[in-house]
Amino acid sequence: MNLMMMAILPIPLHSPSPPPPLRLLSPPNLPLFTFPAISLRHRYVTVRASGSSSQYDTNPPPLLQVNDLKAKIVENGVEILHGVNLTVNQGEVHAIMGKNGSGKSTFAKVLVGHPDYEVTGGSVVFKGENLLDMEPEERSLAGLFMSFQSPVAIPGVSNDEFLVMAYNARRRKLGLPELGPLECFSYLMEKLQLVNMNSDFLNRNVNEGFSGGERKRNEILQLAVLGADLAILDEIDSGLDVDALRDVANAVKRILTPKNSLMMITHYRRILDLLNPTHVHVMDKGKIARTGDISLVETIEKEGYETVPSLT
Ligand code: ADP
Ligand code: MG
Repeated sequence: MNLMMMAILPIPLHSPSPPPPLRLLSPPNLPLFTFPAISLRHRYVTVRASGSSSQYDTNPPPLLQVNDLKAKIVENGVEILHGVNLTVNQGEVHAIMGKNGSGKSTFAKVLVGHPDYEVTGGSVVFKGENLLDMEPEERSLAGLFMSFQSPVAIPGVSNDEFLVMAYNARRRKLGLPELGPLECFSYLMEKLQLVNMNSDFLNRNVNEGFSGGERKRNEILQLAVLGADLAILDEIDSGLDVDALRDVANAVKRILTPKNSLMMITHYRRILDLLNPTHVHVMDKGKIARTGDISLVETIEKEGYETVPSLT
């Protein structure tokens, strides 16, 4: 389950040890999500109207621009990100690789505003706005989605209730009428088909008793239902068998459009072969140490991570 969504939804939680982002609980019924396509169009029009791009410049601005981002762990003050630089444009698929502990998950969590981390330097612009000024729920609203490495369960809340609440929260935010039960059902069925998942999923409690693979699929279902301009998937492929991996990759492919982008943290080539990243980055010691195309993955497989950062 998506922690950011949990942070903003009025869901009864019976978990014995709720996860840290719950500290961010917003007032109940705060609408959360927006339709990415609409906000994207709005952003584009704004840029053109402001005169910051020429009449003939049809290139949209970068979706995400990260400059020299530094962040530390709040609890112990240890700096983990030592100056991350990254630009993501619309329609791009970025893979982030790197050995364990290099800061990949921290980078992703800092982008979505996880409270365990404090930004100590640098800037992040998302769709022309200063992302670091936004609350986590505003980041969600702006079209950022993250699937966490270890999705958590919400005992007592069924998947369909949860998805309907989250989706209707988005609609309220947009001033659209909430979907009634029948409309919701057909919308969810459409998305289930899109990600090739069984409707049994809807009746089960969010992630409760789900296998690792089912949790990962459920994250993709959430992404399909809610949509995003930039989806960050942290090790969505870990622990999946070959068939589940192919299904998840195909589901992600169906969600991708020329207008949205994907940042995928992974250790494995298999999902990259299925999703064809436009960029491959290697993180090392809290920085992006190397960027290339898919051929970089081959180098990593042959030589391991040790030599990669120093390649020229
Ligand atoms: P990766 O995802 O690349 O494996 P992480 O970003 O999870 O790496 O972690 C980078 C380093 O920061 C690790 O040494 C990890 O132990 C540490 N770290 C990250 N988050 C926390 C936290 N909340 N508390 C303590 N240490 C953390
Ligand atoms: Mg990680």
